[in-house]
Amino acid sequence: MRPTMRPATLAVHAGREDFEELGVHAAPLDLSSTYPIPDLDEGTASLDALAGGDENAPNAVYSRLRNPTVARFEQALALLEGTETSVAFASGMAAMTACLLAARMRGGHVVAVRPLYGGTDHLLATGMLGLEVTWATVDTVRESCRDDTSLVVIETPANPTCELVDIAEVVRQAGDIPVLVDSTFATPVLQRPVEQGAAMVLHSATKFLGGHGDVLAGVVATSEEHAHSLRQVRILTGGVLHPLGGYLLHRGLATLPVRVLHAQATTQLIAGRLAGHPAVLRTYYAGLPGGDPRGLIGRQMDGAGAVLAFDVAGGYDAAVRFLDALQLITVAVSLGSVDTLIQHPAGLTHRVIEQEARTSSGIGPGMLRLSVGLEDVDDLWEDLERGLRAAANRD
Ligand SMILES: *Cc1c(COP(=O)(O)O)cnc(C)c1O
Repeated sequence: MRPTMRPATLAVHAGREDFEELGVHAAPLDLSSTYPIPDLDEGTASLDALAGGDENAPNAVYSRLRNPTVARFEQALALLEGTETSVAFASGMAAMTACLLAARMRGGHVVAVRPLYGGTDHLLATGMLGLEVTWATVDTVRESCRDDTSLVVIETPANPTCELVDIAEVVRQAGDIPVLVDSTFATPVLQRPVEQGAAMVLHSATKFLGGHGDVLAGVVATSEEHAHSLRQVRILTGGVLHPLGGYLLHRGLATLPVRVLHAQATTQLIAGRLAGHPAVLRTYYAGLPGGDPRGLIGRQMDGAGAVLAFDVAGGYDAAVRFLDALQLITVAVSLGSVDTLIQHPAGLTHRVIEQEARTSSGIGPGMLRLSVGLEDVDDLWEDLERGLRAAANRD
C-alpha cells in the first residue's frame, strides 16, 4: 500500500499486503501461541532479533514476540498515522505503561500536561513506575524540562473537557525531548500528531479504532527507533494484544473514516442544541463558537470529533436525574462506539485523580461526557431532551 494514498483508501486496504500471496480476501486469524522451529539456527537468530525489538524475523518463535494478525493491524495503523511503524498492546494503559517504562530507561523525569485520562493521571501521580513527574501547562513545558527529562506527555483533545492542546507548541518547547500525544479522541482521521512533530502517538484502540465496544487494546504509532524499545518492554512485561483483538481492530479500521466523520457531523448538531438549552450551563466542544481559542481546527485537527461534555444546571443531583431519565443512550464509561454512551467523569473515569486536579481541570459535579455514535441525530436529541427535562425538574 502506497502511503501517498488518501486516508479513506488506506483505511480499507492497509495491512493487506500479503493477501495475494496467501490467496485470501479476508485477514486470516492466527491464534497460535507458539510456532514450529524447523531450523534451530534460524530459530535462535529470530529469537535474538525479536527480543532485541525487531518488527519481524524469519521465525515468529512465540506469540509474545510476534503475531502476524496483530502485525497487520500495526502496519495499517502506522500507514494511517504516517509513522514508520506501530506497536500494539493489551490495552491503552498497557501502551502508556510501556511508553513510560521505555522513557524510564532514558531518564527518570517526565513532564505532563493536565487534563489527562484518569488512569494516565493516576499512573503518573502515584509514581508507581519510579518516574518523577512535573505537571505543566502548555506555556510551562520548557521551564519544566530538566536534563533527565525523557518524555513529555499530552492528550488532545483532552479527556473529558475536549480542550485542544497545541502539539506544535509543546514540541517546540520540549526541544530534543520526545513528545507523546494521546490522540485517542481524534483518531488518525482527524489528527496526525507526527505532522506536528510528535515522536509518539498513543491510542486507546478500545475506543474509536475498534469502534464496536468489543475489543480492549492500545497502540503506539512511532519511529522504528522508539518502537524497538517499546517491543522490548512488551516482550518482557507481556502486555501483548490477543490476535482476535488485532483481527477485530484491523477489520474496524476499514470503516474508521466513515464512522468518525458521520459521528462528528451528528456531534456538531448536538453541541449546538445543547449550547442553546437553558438547562445546560456550559458545553465543551471545540466545534462551537469560542471553543477553539488557539485556532487549532484546520491547522492541527481536521474537525472537533465525536465526543463532547456539558455541565447541567443543578450539579450532581441534576446529573443523576438526567442519567436516570435516558431511554436510548447507554450510561457507560468508554467512548468511540457505534452506539452513543454517556458518563459522569467526576464519579467514574476521573474519580481516581486528586480532587484538586479534578477541580482545576474543570471537572465538576454536573459534568457529563457524551460519546456520540451512529444513531439518528433526532432520536439522540429526543433522549437528551428527556434527560434535560428531568435534570431541570426538582420534584
Ligand atoms: C480509555 C482511554 C485510555 C486507556 O485505555 P484502555 O484501553 O482503557 O486501557 C487512555 N487514554 C484515553 C484518552 C482514553 O480514553
